Amino acid sequence: MNVDQTVRTFLDFYRERGHQLVPEHSLVPPPGDPVLFTTSGMHPLTPYLSGRTHPQGPRLVNLQRCLRTTDLDKVGDDTHLTVFQMLGSWSLGSYPGGQSLTWGYELMRDGFGIGSDRLHVTAHQDDLESLRTWERIGVPVERTRDENWWSNGPTGPCGPDSEIFVWTGDTPPRGTPTTDPRWTEVWNHVMMRYLRHEDGSLEPVEPERVDTGMGVERILTILQRKRSVFETDVFRPWSLGKLWPLDERSRRVLTDHLRSSVVVIGDGVRPSPNGRGYVLRRLIRRVLTRLWRVDQEWTLGDLPTEPIEFTIDHFGQRLEVGPVREVLLTEEDRFRGLVKRGRPVVSRRRSRGPLTDDDFSYLHDTYGLPRDLVVDLLEEPA
Ligand code: ATP
Ligand code: MG
Repeated sequence: MNVDQTVRTFLDFYRERGHQLVPEHSLVPPPGDPVLFTTSGMHPLTPYLSGRTHPQGPRLVNLQRCLRTTDLDKVGDDTHLTVFQMLGSWSLGSYPGGQSLTWGYELMRDGFGIGSDRLHVTAHQDDLESLRTWERIGVPVERTRDENWWSNGPTGPCGPDSEIFVWTGDTPPRGTPTTDPRWTEVWNHVMMRYLRHEDGSLEPVEPERVDTGMGVERILTILQRKRSVFETDVFRPWSLGKLWPLDERSRRVLTDHLRSSVVVIGDGVRPSPNGRGYVLRRLIRRVLTRLWRVDQEWTLGDLPTEPIEFTIDHFGQRLEVGPVREVLLTEEDRFRGLVKRGRPVVSRRRSRGPLTDDDFSYLHDTYGLPRDLVVDLLEEPA
């Protein structure tokens, strides 16, 4: 199944069960939202999950692009990306968690061909509804305490969740999701069953709301029998190994950060010293740092048009390749200048001995040289 068929299978399954398609939001939340980027399909629906009536009714489904800066350091493993797509379904009090899990299982089995023999789930030990549902369906359950509890802060909606894992090992399934990493999490079902008050007490929400999220690139990895998200068809034109021969992890980071940058630029963000623009700046500079550690002549000017075009198209953005390249190249020029100016400054400080915290603060405050840049690129052994 390719990515379009996979997305369609999910959306159609829920539409056939009375869910309305919610339009996809930009990565940039509307003004007034304190969050820098949309981090899940649920994020734009927050007011409705806390009780407001949604104009499209109580059953919703969508596909949402997401960005998680919290996952930056995990990027390069088999399953984490900075920008990824999430398929989601919601019950705003229309049906309870047990129904969500039952449909979830049916979609995995009938829509994606993944039956109970390749599945394992986790559930909160006190979430009797989910435990009973999984027992009835016949999927093995690992009971946990702290891991399967969702909240969005100290107060507000919260409740148990149940995560669905697929076996990705070469052997028959073994162990459990928390004991064997070959169990890959693909889907989380959150039962927003309570409201937490300032004093810590829990008030039951009747009827409960349900929020689910499935990572598109993760389910594709499984459906396409690949080792990682980077080998799925959404990365098809992103093979940069010939252009920039690097170790596999660096190649993955580079691919992720460049592709994420394209999507962020496509949603209207430009590099800047703070906020969203700074996230974009960091992504581009992390790419350049990895490239220049190997060869200072390498330039984003050599990045082919095809992956940029393919990505803009995949995310349905209205933008030409030219302006995207221009943003990347302008940022590269600026960074090249910074590195050039920074090198003698750093080497002067370095000649007095290993850099101290005070040195790093000075370099940052006076020359705008961030610590990771100094460590990764500028600091030569004394
Ligand atoms: P993990 O523990 O693997 O980081 P998570 O618990 O943070 O996942 P959720 O917040 O529940 O994930 O998000 C719902 C789904 O979105 C996950 O089951 C997964 O399929 C997908 N997902 C989450 N983070 C990423 C990411 N960084 N890259 C790709 N897919 C992701
Ligand atoms: Mg995570």
